[in-house]
Amino acid sequence: MNVNHILHIQDDNVVDTLRNFLSGWWAHVELDAIFAPVELPDRGGVVAEVIEDPDGLKKVNPFLPVMSSNSAPMVDGFLKDHPGGRLAVMLRPCELRALVELQKRNRVQFSTSAKNNHHKSLFIIGVDCPGTFSPPEYARHVEAQLDDAEMIKVALAYGSQESYIPYQVRAACQMCDSPAPLGADVVIGSIGTAPLGYLLAISSDAETDASLKLTRNTDGLAAESEIVHREIMVGKLADKRSKLRADLISKHSGQAESLNSVMALFARCTLCADCLDACPLYDGELAGMLGVRESQQRTHPLLTELVGVSRWLASCSGCGMCQEVCEHGVALTPIVTTLSHRIQHELGYKPGDPNQRLPWNG
Ligand code: SF4
Ligand code: SF4
Ligand code: SF4
Repeated sequence: MNVNHILHIQDDNVVDTLRNFLSGWWAHVELDAIFAPVELPDRGGVVAEVIEDPDGLKKVNPFLPVMSSNSAPMVDGFLKDHPGGRLAVMLRPCELRALVELQKRNRVQFSTSAKNNHHKSLFIIGVDCPGTFSPPEYARHVEAQLDDAEMIKVALAYGSQESYIPYQVRAACQMCDSPAPLGADVVIGSIGTAPLGYLLAISSDAETDASLKLTRNTDGLAAESEIVHREIMVGKLADKRSKLRADLISKHSGQAESLNSVMALFARCTLCADCLDACPLYDGELAGMLGVRESQQRTHPLLTELVGVSRWLASCSGCGMCQEVCEHGVALTPIVTTLSHRIQHELGYKPGDPNQRLPWNG
């Protein structure tokens, strides 16, 4: 059972409250490094970086509502660069879903549960995510001199109010599978909480909680009403997005079966492959079809390639980075969401669930 700790927001500053918590936690668990989103200079957004000195936590900000890449594939390099270190990563839910899928595919190796391994080398911190803007949209807000703190407040309130936001979050976020992280050792819960003046630090169970030593630098256990309030708001937000996704899938299912519509969607595509490079899960599944592996194409039937594509999309984390990087305006999110969810439904598979094996592995 989860253990919910409360973190009272200090001086109306949710970001500093989290930084102070991380700083205390770093000392208590004797961390060597953390891979986390940090603010870029001049309000340029955020990028995931390795921090090896607790002083670097002053730049950490997982609440800024902008996302330019899915950092899950970089976790492998972080682990390899710090062999034997006591490490942590901080990820949004779609990044964590991608990390779990990469682990199942043996593309990154770490132990998943703190309770099973007291010498665990990687702690996973997941952060509630009410949605993010594209970098250009974020830059427009910066140009309009909108304060970051105000944007964070609005973004967190969005999760809380589960409806109104004066800005447009990315298409992928409007249909996100879950705004709450699955499979993290500790979750920073903000949905349904921040406007009331607190965050939740939620460990996955009592053993993990003891291993994480959260009692030492939080403000006590959360009240039942605070726990339930977040859970209700997370559920409402997930339901709302699920409905949007179902509407889109139903609209695009017909289209996906029409060759004309698919051709029209890709009319502006230049085959630059930027979308594939941005995908945390892509592993060359389309290479044969794109003619990159012509020699293999001759020895592998098309069916093998199609199965590979289907397995890739079964693990799709819904991060929307494929559409985000396309400079030619190809609306990939609707088609990727439609295809991936049909495949996942067919397989009864939920990407990012650490307790589910890849369906084709038995
Ligand atoms: S896809 Fe989901 S987890 Fe990822 S940024 Fe959007 S709302 Fe957050
Ligand atoms: S990034 Fe856009 S233009 Fe490039 S291959 Fe992907 S869909 Fe086509
Ligand atoms: S296909 Fe697109 S939405 Fe799915 S994991 Fe890859 S980049 Fe993210």
